[in-house]
Amino acid sequence: MELEGKVAIVTGGTRGIGRAIVLDLAANGADVALNYRQSADLAHELAGAVREMGRRALVVQADVSSFDDAQMMVQQALDEFGRLDILVNNAGMNWDGVVWKMTEEQWDRVIDVDLKGTFNYTRAAAPVFRERGAGKIVNITSINGLRGKFGQSNYSAAKAGVIGFTKACARELGRYSVNVNAVAPGLIETEMVKDAPESVRDMALAEIVLGRLGLPEEVAHVVTFLCTEKARHITGQVIQVDGGQYI
Ligand code: NAD
Repeated sequence: MELEGKVAIVTGGTRGIGRAIVLDLAANGADVALNYRQSADLAHELAGAVREMGRRALVVQADVSSFDDAQMMVQQALDEFGRLDILVNNAGMNWDGVVWKMTEEQWDRVIDVDLKGTFNYTRAAAPVFRERGAGKIVNITSINGLRGKFGQSNYSAAKAGVIGFTKACARELGRYSVNVNAVAPGLIETEMVKDAPESVRDMALAEIVLGRLGLPEEVAHVVTFLCTEKARHITGQVIQVDGGQYI
């Protein structure tokens, strides 16, 4: 198995794309630490599924927008598993509104979770990877960070920020053999999307050249690939998994 003996942290791993990433990394041999903010039951149920696959799992309550929580979680993963090889910054949220109605709270929360959260975990893990001279970081952005989306100026800004951050970190960490990449999904069939109005779904379907929404597993497979040695010469890239939604 490609990731046998490796240890991964996946943020926001309890549901949706994060859950699929946890399961796919474990299926490829990795032990996984995942965090949750409120859904302890979901997190422990997923950890159980990872253990049933013969892998080790660690569940930590941590809000990605907290710098201290990120430091604590990386330390807990090191204490539990003795090493860290992979960081997947997946946790994210949206809180939509047109810019002329957007509140300061809406702006701050989405930037804090989607952009600062990615910094928090990278900041906590980077010294470990740098010291070891190895590591894989995959940041989940969005095609809306590439093109901007009506009603999502906060989310688009945060996800565009994640792309700039990914490229800068790839430059800084490359000399230590650390790969830093981003995966940009289009509309994927998850809870985040189930809450969206029917019109949003229909508009996306009209754009997606493959004619259907993506599945969480289809994002997860690309993340796993980027974490393997097969992808060792790929860094600083944004890989779209969007069925051709944004070409
Ligand atoms: P989701 O809402 O189903 O899952 C998001 C996860 O992040 C949940 O587990 C949630 O608990 C966690 N999370 C949110 N805020 C958190 C916080 N402050 N601290 C810790 N955890 C927190 O969404 P998803 O669709 O699975 O999204 C996963 C990632 O993919 C996000 O970064 C999202 O922006 C991105 N994305 C999703 C789509 C899509 O169509 N679903 C498209 C492009 C990008």
